[in-house]
Amino acid sequence: MRGRGRLPARVSAPPPGICGHSRSKAAVAGGQSSRPAIGPRTERGRGFGGPAYKVAAGKALGFAPASLASLLSRFRSPPGRTGALLQRVMATKAVCVLKGDGPVQGTIHFEQQARPGAEVHGEACSRANKVVVSGRITGLTEGQHGFHVHQFGDNTQGCTSAGPHFNPQSKKHGGPTDQERHVGDLGNVLADKDGVAIVSIEDSLISLLGEHSIIGRTMVIHEKPDDLGKGGNEESTKTGNAGSRLACGVIGIAQ
Ligand SMILES: [Zn+2]
Repeated sequence: MRGRGRLPARVSAPPPGICGHSRSKAAVAGGQSSRPAIGPRTERGRGFGGPAYKVAAGKALGFAPASLASLLSRFRSPPGRTGALLQRVMATKAVCVLKGDGPVQGTIHFEQQARPGAEVHGEACSRANKVVVSGRITGLTEGQHGFHVHQFGDNTQGCTSAGPHFNPQSKKHGGPTDQERHVGDLGNVLADKDGVAIVSIEDSLISLLGEHSIIGRTMVIHEKPDDLGKGGNEESTKTGNAGSRLACGVIGIAQ
């Protein structure tokens, strides 16, 4: 009875990380301590429901040590398999083609290098490197133009259906170096007299994985400069008064 009473504490013990993958992975890591918990492993193992698994699970619930070890071994993926899984989950490069109703168009590349030994769970995500954003946009008027990641990868009604700036932390609009900013706030790009903007940005808040992932969302280039939340009116704290959406594109996984 004492052992059963302790299980709920173990299930809820892993702290949430900043990445979407971290919670379930942390639960597994927690279960691999000196006293493996049956509860979370049994729940996690529902997807493995083959006949052999059911036999092992039945024995494990009867606390037969050998069978419990057999059960636990099913949840320890061999390194090769784990590596292949991570390769599928972690996109380290992404690309976006900007198009609109007018002459503005461009291509934007995103690249994020994971540090050696990084994996897809909380610690690794928090150590993931900044995202390098590079590219070229043409057809602009000379000067600054707001440049943001918007929430949805929905372009069914043109750039409008991409929704507001990507803001998973429910913050106010700001500049890329501000604490108070939307995750999608990448500031401005500057077009020269020929209407060409060379994009070269490094940002630590957007990511290509986890809860801040911009994959499947929309990159938008705006008509006007982004006032970075310092315009002194309410709209400034939402959109930076960057005006209409000249061109946009969904950010997708690249090779
Ligand atoms: Zn914003």
